[in-house]
Amino acid sequence: MIRSKFAQLSLKNKFFFSILIVILLISGTIALLARWILISGLTQELEMRGTAIAHSVATRGTEYILENDTDHLLNVLFDEKQLNERRNLVAYIYVTGKDGKILSHTFTTPFPERLKGVNSVTEKVEKSVEVVPLGEHEAYDIAVPIKEGIYQIGTVHVGLSKAHIDNLVGKLRAMFLGFISAVIIITFWVSHRLAKYIADPVMTLTKISDDLSRGNFSSSDLVDTEEHIECPAFHDTDLPCWHFDEQRGTNKGARPHRCKKCAFYHEPSDGDEVQQLTTSFRNMVWSIRLYRRRLQESESTYRSLFRSGPDPIFVVDVHTQKLVDANPRTEEVYGYTRDELVGMRYSVLGEEHAKECFEYFNNDVLCAEAMKSARIVHLRKGNIPMYVNVTACLISYRTRPAIIVATTDVTDLVEKDAQLIQASKMKSLGEMSTGVAHELNQPLNAIRMGSDFLTMVHEQGIEIPQEQYAQVVTEISTQVDRASDIINTLRSFGRKADLLLEDVNLNEPVGSVVSLLSRQFLIEDVHIVTELDPALPYITAQHNKLQQVLLNLVINARDAIVERNEKGSEVRGRILIRTEYDDEGVSVSVEDNGTGIPDHVAEKVFEPFFTTKATGQGMGLGLAISYGIVREYGGELSIQSAVGDGTCFTVRFPRQEVALAAN
Ligand code: ADP
Repeated sequence: MIRSKFAQLSLKNKFFFSILIVILLISGTIALLARWILISGLTQELEMRGTAIAHSVATRGTEYILENDTDHLLNVLFDEKQLNERRNLVAYIYVTGKDGKILSHTFTTPFPERLKGVNSVTEKVEKSVEVVPLGEHEAYDIAVPIKEGIYQIGTVHVGLSKAHIDNLVGKLRAMFLGFISAVIIITFWVSHRLAKYIADPVMTLTKISDDLSRGNFSSSDLVDTEEHIECPAFHDTDLPCWHFDEQRGTNKGARPHRCKKCAFYHEPSDGDEVQQLTTSFRNMVWSIRLYRRRLQESESTYRSLFRSGPDPIFVVDVHTQKLVDANPRTEEVYGYTRDELVGMRYSVLGEEHAKECFEYFNNDVLCAEAMKSARIVHLRKGNIPMYVNVTACLISYRTRPAIIVATTDVTDLVEKDAQLIQASKMKSLGEMSTGVAHELNQPLNAIRMGSDFLTMVHEQGIEIPQEQYAQVVTEISTQVDRASDIINTLRSFGRKADLLLEDVNLNEPVGSVVSLLSRQFLIEDVHIVTELDPALPYITAQHNKLQQVLLNLVINARDAIVERNEKGSEVRGRILIRTEYDDEGVSVSVEDNGTGIPDHVAEKVFEPFFTTKATGQGMGLGLAISYGIVREYGGELSIQSAVGDGTCFTVRFPRQEVALAAN
């Protein structure tokens, strides 16, 4: 009970009461000891003095007692009583004979009856002390026997005034109590000052921490108001603070600049512990204010990025898979109001991505890596599809794990890409038109010859055997098929690429490119040879765009061979197209024995509009577009070339299952 009450006291009062109790205990003990020592010592001393007086009287008075000379005896008694200071101490002296009769006394009044016969002694005792009544007071009666030889001839009684002794003791006690009180008062004062010195700063610190905990940083008396702070790092939040940024290791670069006189940090080693505590506390308040300022700034930056960012941003709760926040831009891009969006399942906007996203972040909640997805389909209000690039990363939103999904609408870009690819494709087709015309001419000529023959047979009524008739008809039909094949292949090339991905066997686009070009190339004495692996696994891509890539590579190979031939080479032109696969991926390579590519040209071939061909012959877009398409499917396009020997372009795609696992 007392303990808990004591615990509730302020530090100042604890100090005060502890010191008070200790002082009172010490003072009490000293007072008791002193009283005992002083009073008993004083009483003993006075008794000894009384006894000495009595002995002196006994020695000096023996002779007068024996001679019964009471006058001289009286003189001796007065002598002894009046000597120096004894006047106040010695109340009386009287001498009795051996029969107890009063021989002489110092009373100026008749001898008090009440003293007669008190405190009698025999020769066997040295002295006897007894308190006897004396008028209104009392006295210590010290009786000493007067001896002549071994016989007692009388007794000396010396009465010491008890009132005088009490008076002396009282004075002594008052002096002592005064001294103790002075000590107590001084100690109180000192303890009060000490307690104030310690408790006042502690109370100030308590008040400040209380203010800080309530978010009030400006009331602090310890540090200046924000306008008066002369700290560059405080006003420029990009500037690292030498003190805590360096200590936390957040500053990776050079050591941050430290001002000559740092307004922020004070070394807490100066002064006593209380001053050190105050300095440390001040430093702490500074740090908190600096952190808070930085936090506020970065918070407002992120908030304004979220509010006014050019791209839609959603916050999706990982557990409920519902949107918990969305920025204003989402309303413009997705056509929903914010109220409609909040609470909506993320899968409504993009089912595929939602599935992948929650799997990715649920497998490893602590995964810090952002998940990036390119050109995925999201649905606007009314289920209108659009293409978006998405970056998703895990955060903690109101203590729950959530995903920030930032999307960029790339529908225009995807369409423009497709248009560019289409334009480049049409250009290639344009280039091939002469070859195609020649290609078509052959079956048409054969058909014409067949039909002319049949017309002639009909007009001239010539009889021909059935087999020959059937042969001509079959040949016409074959040539029609051939012509329609050429037209179909051309059509499939000319078709605008579909935007959706599909399963593709690389051998198929290779096949159509070869069928379209091989005959034409023969005119220029360029032979296309294929080595296709029949067990090629599927990749995820678009058939039409892959045709485009292969077309570019094969036409470039042809150009390189033609260029080499123009320089007078006798080597037969050969383009080898090979498909193969391993555990990781599927590849197609286009190898030629053309001019080859010098290193300085090889560095630039993928740059848009880079061409070494004459104006009108090359646009410099073929490889740039092919590279873009290959990267879109997660593939790689590499070159191996030796000037004079030829070039090999290899396109490599991840196998479907490998690509899926990587996502
Ligand atoms: P273009 O064919 O319109 O010039 P490309 O982007 O297809 O544009 O090719 C860029 C350049 O790369 C070509 O101009 C040529 O110099 C070089 N090149 C491409 N393929 C080959 C090849 N098989 N052999 C030699 N040079 C090549």
